[in-house]
Amino acid sequence: FNHRLERTEKLKIISDLAASVAHEVRNPLQVTRGFLQLLAGRGDNESKKHFNIAVSELDRASGIITDFLTFAKPELETVSRLNLADELGQLEVIIAPHAAMHGGRLQINADPELNVIGSSSKFKQALINLLKNSIEAFKGDGNIEINAYEEEGEAIVWIKDNGEGMDEAQIAKLGVPYFSTKSKGTGLGTMVTFRIIEVMKGTIEFKSKKGEGTEVIIRLPLADETASLETAAAASPHEL
Ligand code: ADP
Ligand code: MG
Repeated sequence: FNHRLERTEKLKIISDLAASVAHEVRNPLQVTRGFLQLLAGRGDNESKKHFNIAVSELDRASGIITDFLTFAKPELETVSRLNLADELGQLEVIIAPHAAMHGGRLQINADPELNVIGSSSKFKQALINLLKNSIEAFKGDGNIEINAYEEEGEAIVWIKDNGEGMDEAQIAKLGVPYFSTKSKGTGLGTMVTFRIIEVMKGTIEFKSKKGEGTEVIIRLPLADETASLETAAAASPHEL
């Protein structure tokens, strides 16, 4: 009889534990957020300001937990055929107000025919993490352009911003946990995005120039119209 657990088994226990803690912590955060917003509505201007800071700090904590949860258990979500134009349309609703708040805008151009295989919420999270970086890089009149098109039998999602850009050393560190140049950054965003795109069997490439902006090129396998979803899911049963 042996009490020793295999390394992979230990890792699984740790990630299960981390995932359940993250999940449990999210609920009280959401409840607290709701009450803070309620109180903000009743207070004077000074306390409104404080409540709003508290809410955005809670959102930051939730964001970290979401990133962490995705990394620990990327297989939690169900996989389906995703229409890129639909997914990008849903993203626009979330991201456009955020971009406007930071003095910029978002333009989306998507071929309506393109489908890929993945988890809708994870895929959106991957793109949100990138778009948040673009917005946080805005300097004055910000602009983000997203194009989705087909090239050489693959779906391409091409994101271009006119933000502060990165130098070679910064690009090389993308995806490294805790690499951040922001005072309130977590350095988890791109790591999670890399992981999600990898699980979708895609690739991601960054081009950037300091002071000019950043381009992100995501390549994803197209969902074959004739192949059933079952086949796609069976090929990677525990990955997404
Ligand atoms: P965080 O956003 O918490 O700093 P990320 O992993 O999302 O962590 O990004 C890591 C770093 O990469 C950022 O701090 C920033 O320096 C750089 N970066 C990523 N995307 C962009 C972008 N579009 N424009 C400029 N810098 C970027
Ligand atoms: Mg980020």
